[in-house]
Amino acid sequence: MRTIQLGEVTIDRVVELSQGSLPTTAMLPEATAADIAKHHDWLAPHFLDPHTGDLRSSIHTYVVRTPQQTILIDTCIGNGKPRPERPQWHLRQGTFLEDLAALGVTPEAVDLVICTHLHVDHVGWNTRLVDGVWQPTFPRATYLFAGEEWEFWRSEHASRAEANACIGDSVWPVVAAGQVRLVDSDYIINDYLRFEPSPGHTPGHVCLRLTTGAGEAVFCGDLMHRPVQVAEPQWSSIFCVDPVQSRATRQAFVEQHADTDTLILAAHFPTPGRIVRHGGGFRFVPVL
Ligand SMILES: [Zn+2]
Repeated sequence: MRTIQLGEVTIDRVVELSQGSLPTTAMLPEATAADIAKHHDWLAPHFLDPHTGDLRSSIHTYVVRTPQQTILIDTCIGNGKPRPERPQWHLRQGTFLEDLAALGVTPEAVDLVICTHLHVDHVGWNTRLVDGVWQPTFPRATYLFAGEEWEFWRSEHASRAEANACIGDSVWPVVAAGQVRLVDSDYIINDYLRFEPSPGHTPGHVCLRLTTGAGEAVFCGDLMHRPVQVAEPQWSSIFCVDPVQSRATRQAFVEQHADTDTLILAAHFPTPGRIVRHGGGFRFVPVL
Protein backbone atom coordinates (compact mmCIF):
# COMPACT_ATOMS: atom_id res chain seq x y z
CA MET A 1 0.00 0.00 0.00
CA ARG A 2 1.33 3.41 -0.91
CA THR A 3 1.00 6.27 1.56
CA ILE A 4 -2.51 7.69 1.42
CA GLN A 5 -2.73 11.43 1.86
CA LEU A 6 -6.07 12.90 2.89
CA GLY A 7 -5.56 16.62 3.33
CA GLU A 8 -3.05 17.08 6.16
CA VAL A 9 -3.44 13.46 7.36
CA THR A 10 -1.36 10.53 6.08
CA ILE A 11 -2.12 6.81 6.33
CA ASP A 12 0.50 4.07 6.04
CA ARG A 13 0.53 0.49 7.18
CA VAL A 14 2.93 -2.07 8.57
CA VAL A 15 2.16 -5.60 7.39
CA GLU A 16 3.09 -8.25 9.94
CA LEU A 17 1.81 -11.29 8.00
CA SER A 18 0.55 -11.36 4.42
CA GLN A 19 -1.54 -14.49 4.76
CA GLY A 20 -4.20 -15.56 7.23
CA SER A 21 -3.82 -18.76 9.17
CA LEU A 22 -7.17 -20.28 8.13
CA PRO A 23 -8.69 -21.08 4.71
CA THR A 24 -11.64 -18.85 3.83
CA THR A 25 -14.17 -21.69 4.10
CA ALA A 26 -12.99 -22.28 7.69
CA MET A 27 -13.09 -18.56 8.47
CA LEU A 28 -16.56 -18.08 6.93
CA PRO A 29 -18.39 -21.33 7.73
CA GLU A 30 -21.55 -20.45 5.78
CA ALA A 31 -19.52 -20.10 2.56
CA THR A 32 -18.66 -23.13 0.43
CA ALA A 33 -15.77 -23.12 -2.04
CA ALA A 34 -18.37 -23.02 -4.85
CA ASP A 35 -20.12 -20.01 -3.28
CA ILE A 36 -16.82 -18.15 -3.10
CA ALA A 37 -15.76 -19.19 -6.61
CA LYS A 38 -18.81 -17.35 -8.02
CA HIS A 39 -16.97 -14.15 -7.08
CA HIS A 40 -13.50 -15.07 -8.35
CA ASP A 41 -13.91 -12.99 -11.53
CA TRP A 42 -14.02 -9.73 -9.64
CA LEU A 43 -11.84 -10.82 -6.70
CA ALA A 44 -8.92 -11.57 -9.05
CA PRO A 45 -6.20 -10.51 -9.06
CA HIS A 46 -5.89 -8.38 -5.94
CA PHE A 47 -7.96 -10.48 -3.56
CA LEU A 48 -7.35 -13.97 -4.95
CA ASP A 49 -4.08 -15.87 -4.56
CA PRO A 50 -3.46 -17.92 -7.75
CA HIS A 51 -1.04 -20.23 -5.92
CA THR A 52 -3.47 -21.38 -3.21
CA GLY A 53 -6.70 -20.66 -5.09
CA ASP A 54 -7.89 -19.08 -1.85
CA LEU A 55 -8.59 -15.48 -0.96
CA ARG A 56 -5.70 -13.30 0.14
CA SER A 57 -5.59 -11.70 3.56
CA SER A 58 -3.22 -9.71 5.70
CA ILE A 59 -2.51 -8.80 9.30
CA HIS A 60 -1.38 -5.19 9.57
CA THR A 61 -1.32 -2.01 11.62
CA TYR A 62 -2.44 1.31 10.19
CA VAL A 63 -0.25 4.30 11.01
CA VAL A 64 -2.20 7.56 10.93
CA ARG A 65 -0.33 10.85 11.23
CA THR A 66 -2.21 14.09 11.82
CA PRO A 67 -0.33 17.39 12.22
CA GLN A 68 -0.51 16.81 15.99
CA GLN A 69 -0.32 13.06 16.60
CA THR A 70 1.03 9.68 15.50
CA ILE A 71 -1.64 7.03 15.92
CA LEU A 72 -1.53 3.24 15.50
CA ILE A 73 -4.73 1.33 14.75
CA ASP A 74 -4.67 -2.37 15.76
CA THR A 75 -1.38 -3.94 16.77
CA CYS A 76 -1.24 -7.40 15.12
CA ILE A 77 0.19 -10.47 16.87
CA GLY A 78 3.48 -9.36 18.39
CA ASN A 79 6.80 -11.05 19.05
CA GLY A 80 7.45 -13.81 21.54
CA LYS A 81 3.81 -14.43 22.43
CA PRO A 82 2.92 -18.02 23.33
CA ARG A 83 0.15 -18.95 20.87
CA PRO A 84 0.41 -22.74 20.64
CA GLU A 85 -3.01 -22.96 18.93
CA ARG A 86 -1.62 -21.09 15.87
CA PRO A 87 1.81 -22.34 14.76
CA GLN A 88 2.44 -19.31 12.48
CA TRP A 89 1.85 -16.95 15.42
CA HIS A 90 3.51 -18.94 18.19
CA LEU A 91 6.60 -17.20 19.67
CA ARG A 92 6.99 -15.14 16.51
CA GLN A 93 10.14 -13.09 15.92
CA GLY A 94 9.23 -10.67 13.15
CA THR A 95 10.46 -7.25 12.07
CA PHE A 96 7.39 -5.19 13.00
CA LEU A 97 9.25 -2.51 14.99
CA GLU A 98 11.95 -2.23 12.32
CA ASP A 99 9.25 -1.87 9.67
CA LEU A 100 7.55 0.80 11.77
CA ALA A 101 10.91 2.58 12.16
CA ALA A 102 11.31 2.49 8.37
CA LEU A 103 8.21 4.70 8.23
CA GLY A 104 9.95 7.12 10.60
CA VAL A 105 8.03 6.01 13.70
CA THR A 106 9.91 4.99 16.85
CA PRO A 107 8.01 3.52 19.84
CA GLU A 108 8.54 6.82 21.69
CA ALA A 109 6.93 8.77 18.84
CA VAL A 110 3.54 7.05 19.15
CA ASP A 111 0.91 9.19 20.87
CA LEU A 112 -2.16 6.96 20.60
CA VAL A 113 -2.71 3.23 20.22
CA ILE A 114 -6.24 2.21 19.28
CA CYS A 115 -7.60 -1.33 19.18
CA THR A 116 -10.84 -1.75 17.22
CA HIS A 117 -11.40 -4.75 19.49
CA LEU A 118 -9.35 -6.93 21.83
CA HIS A 119 -8.78 -10.08 19.76
CA VAL A 120 -5.36 -11.75 19.69
CA ASP A 121 -4.36 -10.35 16.27
CA HIS A 122 -5.25 -6.77 17.23
CA VAL A 123 -3.46 -6.35 20.57
CA GLY A 124 -0.09 -8.13 20.17
CA TRP A 125 2.27 -5.17 19.82
CA ASN A 126 0.60 -3.38 22.71
CA THR A 127 3.39 -5.01 24.73
CA ARG A 128 6.86 -6.45 24.28
CA LEU A 129 8.99 -8.61 26.50
CA VAL A 130 11.64 -6.67 28.45
CA ASP A 131 13.74 -8.61 30.98
CA GLY A 132 11.12 -11.34 31.06
CA VAL A 133 8.23 -8.93 31.77
CA TRP A 134 5.52 -7.76 29.34
CA GLN A 135 5.87 -3.97 29.12
CA PRO A 136 3.96 -1.40 27.04
CA THR A 137 5.76 -1.19 23.68
CA PHE A 138 4.88 2.47 23.26
CA PRO A 139 6.00 4.19 26.47
CA ARG A 140 4.39 7.60 25.90
CA ALA A 141 1.20 6.41 24.26
CA THR A 142 -2.33 6.47 25.54
CA TYR A 143 -4.07 3.22 24.62
CA LEU A 144 -7.73 3.86 23.75
CA PHE A 145 -10.25 1.03 24.10
CA ALA A 146 -14.03 1.03 24.13
CA GLY A 147 -15.03 0.45 27.74
CA GLU A 148 -17.65 -2.09 26.74
CA GLU A 149 -15.00 -4.14 24.96
CA TRP A 150 -12.63 -4.15 27.92
CA GLU A 151 -15.40 -5.13 30.35
CA PHE A 152 -16.29 -8.13 28.18
CA TRP A 153 -12.72 -9.42 27.81
CA ARG A 154 -11.76 -8.72 31.40
CA SER A 155 -14.60 -11.00 32.45
CA GLU A 156 -13.71 -13.66 29.83
CA HIS A 157 -10.09 -13.64 30.98
CA ALA A 158 -11.11 -13.86 34.63
CA SER A 159 -13.10 -17.04 33.97
CA ARG A 160 -10.81 -18.62 31.30
CA ALA A 161 -7.32 -17.13 31.49
CA GLU A 162 -5.64 -19.76 29.34
CA ALA A 163 -8.13 -19.43 26.46
CA ASN A 164 -7.70 -15.65 26.58
CA ALA A 165 -3.93 -15.49 27.02
CA CYS A 166 -3.63 -12.35 24.86
CA ILE A 167 -5.59 -10.39 27.45
CA GLY A 168 -3.06 -11.43 30.08
CA ASP A 169 0.09 -10.66 28.11
CA SER A 170 -1.04 -7.86 25.77
CA VAL A 171 -3.83 -5.93 27.49
CA TRP A 172 -3.51 -6.25 31.28
CA PRO A 173 0.10 -4.91 31.26
CA VAL A 174 -0.95 -1.64 29.59
CA VAL A 175 -3.93 -1.36 31.96
CA ALA A 176 -1.59 -1.95 34.94
CA ALA A 177 0.83 0.69 33.62
CA GLY A 178 -1.97 3.27 33.75
CA GLN A 179 -1.76 3.89 29.99
CA VAL A 180 -5.30 2.80 29.05
CA ARG A 181 -8.16 5.22 28.63
CA LEU A 182 -11.59 3.59 28.41
CA VAL A 183 -14.06 5.55 26.33
CA ASP A 184 -17.58 5.27 24.96
CA SER A 185 -18.07 3.55 21.60
CA ASP A 186 -18.99 6.90 19.98
CA TYR A 187 -16.05 8.80 21.45
CA ILE A 188 -14.64 11.78 19.48
CA ILE A 189 -10.85 11.43 19.58
CA ASN A 190 -9.73 14.63 17.86
CA ASP A 191 -10.59 16.93 14.95
CA TYR A 192 -10.18 14.02 12.52
CA LEU A 193 -11.02 10.72 14.19
CA ARG A 194 -14.01 9.34 16.02
CA PHE A 195 -15.17 5.94 17.26
CA GLU A 196 -18.35 4.46 15.81
CA PRO A 197 -19.97 1.45 17.47
CA SER A 198 -20.04 -1.66 15.24
CA PRO A 199 -20.99 -4.52 17.57
CA GLY A 200 -21.28 -8.17 16.62
CA HIS A 201 -17.78 -9.44 15.88
CA THR A 202 -17.18 -8.56 19.52
CA PRO A 203 -19.54 -6.70 21.89
CA GLY A 204 -17.53 -3.45 21.94
CA HIS A 205 -16.06 -3.56 18.43
CA VAL A 206 -15.64 -0.05 17.03
CA CYS A 207 -14.84 1.46 13.66
CA LEU A 208 -12.81 4.65 13.38
CA ARG A 209 -14.04 7.31 11.02
CA LEU A 210 -11.43 9.72 9.68
CA THR A 211 -12.83 12.98 8.34
CA THR A 212 -10.68 15.56 6.56
CA GLY A 213 -11.29 18.46 4.20
CA ALA A 214 -9.97 16.23 1.42
CA GLY A 215 -12.05 13.13 2.00
CA GLU A 216 -13.16 10.46 4.43
CA ALA A 217 -11.94 7.00 5.44
CA VAL A 218 -13.16 4.30 7.81
CA PHE A 219 -10.93 1.84 9.63
CA CYS A 220 -13.41 -0.98 10.06
CA GLY A 221 -11.36 -3.56 11.97
CA ASP A 222 -12.94 -7.02 11.70
CA LEU A 223 -16.40 -5.89 10.68
CA MET A 224 -15.42 -7.85 7.54
CA HIS A 225 -12.52 -10.32 7.14
CA ARG A 226 -12.41 -10.84 3.37
CA PRO A 227 -13.57 -8.57 0.50
CA VAL A 228 -16.02 -11.28 -0.64
CA GLN A 229 -18.13 -10.34 2.40
CA VAL A 230 -18.92 -7.01 0.73
CA ALA A 231 -20.87 -9.04 -1.84
CA GLU A 232 -22.07 -11.60 0.73
CA PRO A 233 -22.47 -9.54 3.91
CA GLN A 234 -24.60 -12.25 5.51
CA TRP A 235 -21.48 -14.41 5.98
CA SER A 236 -20.17 -13.98 9.54
CA SER A 237 -16.87 -15.44 10.69
CA ILE A 238 -16.28 -18.25 13.18
CA PHE A 239 -14.72 -15.63 15.46
CA CYS A 240 -17.83 -13.44 15.65
CA VAL A 241 -19.10 -13.45 19.24
CA ASP A 242 -22.61 -12.63 17.98
CA PRO A 243 -22.83 -13.70 14.30
CA VAL A 244 -26.42 -12.44 13.92
CA GLN A 245 -25.54 -8.96 15.17
CA SER A 246 -22.33 -9.03 13.13
CA ARG A 247 -24.34 -9.71 9.97
CA ALA A 248 -26.74 -6.83 10.64
CA THR A 249 -23.88 -4.43 11.38
CA ARG A 250 -22.06 -5.49 8.20
CA GLN A 251 -25.14 -5.23 5.98
CA ALA A 252 -25.84 -1.71 7.26
CA PHE A 253 -22.19 -0.72 6.78
CA VAL A 254 -22.09 -1.95 3.18
CA GLU A 255 -25.35 -0.12 2.34
CA GLN A 256 -24.13 3.06 4.03
CA HIS A 257 -20.84 3.24 2.13
CA ALA A 258 -21.83 1.90 -1.28
CA ASP A 259 -21.08 4.31 -4.13
CA THR A 260 -19.53 6.87 -1.80
CA ASP A 261 -15.97 8.21 -1.88
CA THR A 262 -15.30 6.83 1.60
CA LEU A 263 -12.12 4.80 1.67
CA ILE A 264 -12.54 1.49 3.49
CA LEU A 265 -9.53 0.22 5.46
CA ALA A 266 -10.19 -3.19 6.99
CA ALA A 267 -7.82 -4.96 9.35
CA HIS A 268 -7.32 -8.01 7.11
CA PHE A 269 -8.08 -6.91 3.53
CA PRO A 270 -5.06 -7.04 1.21
CA THR A 271 -5.66 -3.47 0.02
CA PRO A 272 -7.85 -0.50 0.91
CA GLY A 273 -10.76 0.15 -1.38
CA ARG A 274 -14.27 1.38 -1.97
CA ILE A 275 -17.66 -0.32 -1.94
CA VAL A 276 -19.65 -0.08 -5.17
CA ARG A 277 -23.07 -1.29 -6.25
CA HIS A 278 -22.97 -3.84 -9.04
CA GLY A 279 -25.81 -5.80 -10.63
CA GLY A 280 -28.16 -5.54 -7.67
CA GLY A 281 -25.38 -6.37 -5.20
CA PHE A 282 -22.07 -4.97 -4.05
CA ARG A 283 -18.39 -5.31 -4.81
CA PHE A 284 -15.15 -4.07 -3.34
CA VAL A 285 -12.85 -2.10 -5.64
CA PRO A 286 -9.21 -1.87 -4.61
CA VAL A 287 -7.46 1.46 -4.17
CA LEU A 288 -3.78 0.74 -4.74
ZN1 LIG B 1 -8.63 -9.89 13.29
